[in-house]
Amino acid sequence: MSLTLHVDGARWRDHLTHVAERTPGLVPVAKGNGYGFGLGRLARRTQWLTERGAATGQTWGDVLAVGTYDEISEVADRYDGSILVLTPWRPFGAAVEVDAALDPALSRRVIHTVSRVDDLAALLERQPDARYVLELLTSMLRHGFNAHELRSLGSLASGGTLEGVAMHLPLAQGSHLSQVQRLITDAISAGLPTRTLWVSHLTPDELATLRTSYSDYTIRPRIGTGLWLGDRGSLRVSARVLDVHPVERGDVFGYRSRTAPKSGHILVVSGGTAHGIGLEAPTGEQSLKARAATLARGGLDAVGFVRSPYSIDGKQRLFAEPPHMQASMLFVPAGAGVPEVGDEIDVRVRYTATTFDHVVISQG
Ligand SMILES: *Cc1c(COP(=O)(O)O)cnc(C)c1O
Repeated sequence: MSLTLHVDGARWRDHLTHVAERTPGLVPVAKGNGYGFGLGRLARRTQWLTERGAATGQTWGDVLAVGTYDEISEVADRYDGSILVLTPWRPFGAAVEVDAALDPALSRRVIHTVSRVDDLAALLERQPDARYVLELLTSMLRHGFNAHELRSLGSLASGGTLEGVAMHLPLAQGSHLSQVQRLITDAISAGLPTRTLWVSHLTPDELATLRTSYSDYTIRPRIGTGLWLGDRGSLRVSARVLDVHPVERGDVFGYRSRTAPKSGHILVVSGGTAHGIGLEAPTGEQSLKARAATLARGGLDAVGFVRSPYSIDGKQRLFAEPPHMQASMLFVPAGAGVPEVGDEIDVRVRYTATTFDHVVISQG
């Protein structure tokens, strides 16, 4: 039985076009679990966006970003533009193996991310016409060149096709602009032959400021979450009630033969660890005093029950025991409304960490 992502198709597509329209140069990001939708679906949707953009003379989605070299094959035949790989190229592993196996037409669509001096030399040696962006080290300290390394590239950066400089910024904490300005200054003083800037996590206002201050630059904002998941109201996740068992205080249930702390119902619902359904911390305050008070009230989290992401009768319910592989057991205390076998219930999930059995997009 299924954990299902329901998408209000018309509303979702409106949101996608809205984001594209207000984000010139948009580069959609499709990586990992495809933000819950799956990589293939996002690739087709990017193709759709590209065609809509082309029809109105705008550049969106002429480049799709994937996370890894292994993901190229998931998007390549559902979308026909360039594919930027966000994980920096290295002279080992998937970067080398996948790339060598691509047919030449597909290989020309790939834009590599390069973050080390030696790697640029090694890439251009293997593939003298490689397309690439140079990643600059940001305050994230993930990957990238510092100013000194950039300057040491010298004529190396005239090899292949330099498609721009890239910076991966931390999630917004105040303004990123001073950091971006410093990095652009580094790129300019290194004499890099490019005027394209690939950025992430800038607000629409920051992007607008950047476009004004660097009007000779082309800005390419890479966006995943804000694009695919930016209108949560168009998305809903449901599970099914698979079984309902009335229990009295002291009745035994589950893999661990726990006993029910009071009367109520044990529910078996679809969705488990294989879908990414995990244990969440119980609600509310964790202080000893608060726990003592909960204990005194006979609260279930006090007896070790943990909050689940499933809602029943308007409340987020507690797991009766840790989620199983494809199903979960919940405890619903007496007094609450109990759904029937087959009913749909709402689930709150992290879309980037959930594998859905079905994605249902309403048409029209
Ligand atoms: C994932 C990723 C993005 C997109 O991030 P979102 O928060 O999903 O918009 C942009 N750039 C890089 C380098 C990434 O890895």
